Amino acid sequence: MTITESIQQIKASLPSGTKLIAVSKMHPASAIEEAYAAGMRDFGENKVQELAAKAEVLPKDIRWHMIGHLQTNKVKYIAPFVHLIHSVDSLHLLQTINKEAIKNNRIINYLLEVHIAQEESKFGLSPVQVVPLIEEIKSADLHNVRLCGLMCMASNTDNRDEIRQEFRSVATLFKYIKSAYFADDEAFAQLSMGMSHDYQIAAEEGSTYVRVGTAIFGQRDYSTNK
Ligand SMILES: *Cc1c(COP(=O)(O)O)cnc(C)c1O
Repeated sequence: MTITESIQQIKASLPSGTKLIAVSKMHPASAIEEAYAAGMRDFGENKVQELAAKAEVLPKDIRWHMIGHLQTNKVKYIAPFVHLIHSVDSLHLLQTINKEAIKNNRIINYLLEVHIAQEESKFGLSPVQVVPLIEEIKSADLHNVRLCGLMCMASNTDNRDEIRQEFRSVATLFKYIKSAYFADDEAFAQLSMGMSHDYQIAAEEGSTYVRVGTAIFGQRDYSTNK
């Protein structure tokens, strides 16, 4: 299947409330151009340098999503234009994003990354850390960042029930936070979950953004070190 055909097929399979992000990491600008010609405007990258380099040469109406771990010293490279940062997991990082947003005279939208998968990870918040951090964020009074929801990755497993349970638990946490803290805030509305092998389950469990790479662009080639 071509990139265009894959995009059309995935879009057709998604419910109306679920938006597709094409994860273009490790794929060349030419692949993004093909997806762009097929109507894609939301692209996800997990490395700051790669994201910034692609943004410079590709159409300006692309909405760039930062989906990978973000180091504070690199925030400045994407702060002028990034559409949504999916991977915020500390107040310190958020304070840096806020500072860079002020310099650029804009508001930067972000999600809190929840670590739900079985695999060990240094990144993401455990579910019990999310509410305390939201309390901290509220009292920190940061005016140039806007919390739009939660992001998560499910376990890397073939057990579909386990994946569904994980997505469901994050969706439940999302609904709780929405009602307890953001009932009157329209911006808090996004749930970013689902990748190539599990985006259908995620969409069924209420995902509003699925992040799909391989199923659009094919396998990534990790052998070349560009
Ligand atoms: C790479 C990546 C994806 C896309 O993964 P695929 O399996 O290629 O669809 C989604 N989310 C994050 C955070 C990623 O790093």
